[in-house]
Amino acid sequence: MLVSERKPWDEIVNFLTQDENIFLIACNGCSEACQTGGKKGLDELQSKLEEEGKKISGSFLADFACNKILVALKLNRYIQCLHNADSILVSACGVGVQSVASMVNIPVYPADNTLYMGGFSGVWTGEERCLQCGDCKLNSTGGICPYANCPKNLVNGACGGSNKGKCEVDPEQDCAWTKIYDRLQETGKIENLRKLHPPRNWNLMQPPNERKKTLFWALEFEQEEKEKEVVK
Ligand code: SF4
Ligand code: SF4
Repeated sequence: MLVSERKPWDEIVNFLTQDENIFLIACNGCSEACQTGGKKGLDELQSKLEEEGKKISGSFLADFACNKILVALKLNRYIQCLHNADSILVSACGVGVQSVASMVNIPVYPADNTLYMGGFSGVWTGEERCLQCGDCKLNSTGGICPYANCPKNLVNGACGGSNKGKCEVDPEQDCAWTKIYDRLQETGKIENLRKLHPPRNWNLMQPPNERKKTLFWALEFEQEEKEKEVVK
């Protein structure tokens, strides 16, 4: 389970400025439970984009956007619509957005931010990871998470140590920022690298009190109460 909330609308409109035809995908798993994705989230995105004058070239609900096999099967059924799309907007956690981005060669953007859950995270089989930073950057990094893939968590890369596409911290690992460069080149978005991002806002890693009451803290509290009952 990963928790998400919709990005500010102005931010979404801003990164879709140059795109006329948008393909929409919404996750029907965790995101549906968080009321960002699912049918309701998909319909909301469609009507708001149409109000902005965008055309929707197609859309689908993905049962679990983090499951690459399920997503690939669905994408395959919408090939023609995808050919007509300038970009794909995905309502899902960071893992779901990265899953889609890894399978297409057009820009993929996140409609949502994935929120921090105090170290608790979901389980999935793909290699994509999300550190729940609360301010998803996948729209500017070609759908590759800079935080989860770069040991220095750089939001502006690459660092000076990148060597022939390998990371200086772990030479067995590909440099995340070289991969981001290659992906942006493939998708015609290399100019994204000209924009410098402000430092990461680590305050977003501290959930506000009202969120603590509604997420896994509530489950932990319930478990503690049950354990107390057993001891009695
Ligand atoms: S930028 Fe990375 S850590 Fe932040 S929400 Fe997106 S995928 Fe997750
Ligand atoms: S070499 Fe690349 S992945 Fe490694 S720390 Fe530097 S920018 Fe990050």
